[in-house]
Amino acid sequence: VKRRTDERLGFFDAAMSYAVTERLTLERSIKDALKAGQFELFYQPQVSLRDYELVGAEALIRWRHPELGIITPDKFIPVAEESGLIVPMGQWVLREACRQMRVWNDMNLGRLRIGVNVSGRQFHEEGLPDMVAEAIADARIDPTHLDLELTESMLMADGEGTLKMLRALAKLGVTLSIDDFGTGYSSLAYLKRFPINTVKIDRAFVKDLDQDEDGRVIANAIISLAHSLSLKTIAEGVETEAQASLLARHGCDEIQGYMIGRPLTVADFTAFVGSYTAQ
Ligand code: C2E
Ligand code: CA
Ligand code: CA
Ligand code: CA
Repeated sequence: VKRRTDERLGFFDAAMSYAVTERLTLERSIKDALKAGQFELFYQPQVSLRDYELVGAEALIRWRHPELGIITPDKFIPVAEESGLIVPMGQWVLREACRQMRVWNDMNLGRLRIGVNVSGRQFHEEGLPDMVAEAIADARIDPTHLDLELTESMLMADGEGTLKMLRALAKLGVTLSIDDFGTGYSSLAYLKRFPINTVKIDRAFVKDLDQDEDGRVIANAIISLAHSLSLKTIAEGVETEAQASLLARHGCDEIQGYMIGRPLTVADFTAFVGSYTAQ
């Protein structure tokens, strides 16, 4: 019996160290890729549901790997989070999005808002507000054109610290959104307490919209709740005209999704803006 246990432990050991080695290899590659400038931001258009005017874009990170091509964030964000690399990566994302906004401003592309995802780790960095302020100042952009996307789980963590951080960010003039709304442990009380501007309705609820009545009830409830607290609503993952028209009927403010456009490279997004006409 003793021998078998040892064998089993040996097996688990080997499997575990393989996973650890793989993780460490990925971690090192991410670090190198940051230095080598292999990360890139794609931009996904967001439009108003009232008139289909283009109002902004969400910046979404991609890794342009020299051998593997484009790698999506689900492959590296979790390791970046665990290892803490998400902090320098997040800083790069913020600065890059602001820099790009300056380029688009100089091209007179029109008033656009850029949404940037902030990770939990970043949100708990004391220096975050100063870092955001510096990125805005260095790029000489209007802070109201920058929207920071936060998640519910970040906001639930600790009461006073969270409120302090949100106030410090809001004071910079940027807007704050709650990403993936409805998927975390929602304590709705925080919506009123925190200086939040926008609720992003998760794709899961949008997907259910044209399935059955239940799906409609939930999306409708989120929109009504948000509006009763004077918050704007953006629906994510809108893929069909049917979903868009149901959302419009419920008074949803903006949509983002494949129906309007996929996340695009800077060149493609710039072309998209140039040729886009509201339907
Ligand atoms: P998210 O913030 O919820 O971003 C929306 C995701 O939904 C994006 O996936 C986008 O490509 C995808 N999407 C948009 N419209 C549609 C649609 O109509 N249908 C479907 N099926 N999907 C749609 P992506 O770009 O792979 O990003 C995944 C997640 O990675 C993001 O989810 C976000 O949590 C994280 N992420 C992306 N960029 C960054 C970043 O710069 N920093 C941090 N911390 N996280 C990021
Ligand atoms: Ca997001
Ligand atoms: Ca989201
Ligand atoms: Ca998500």
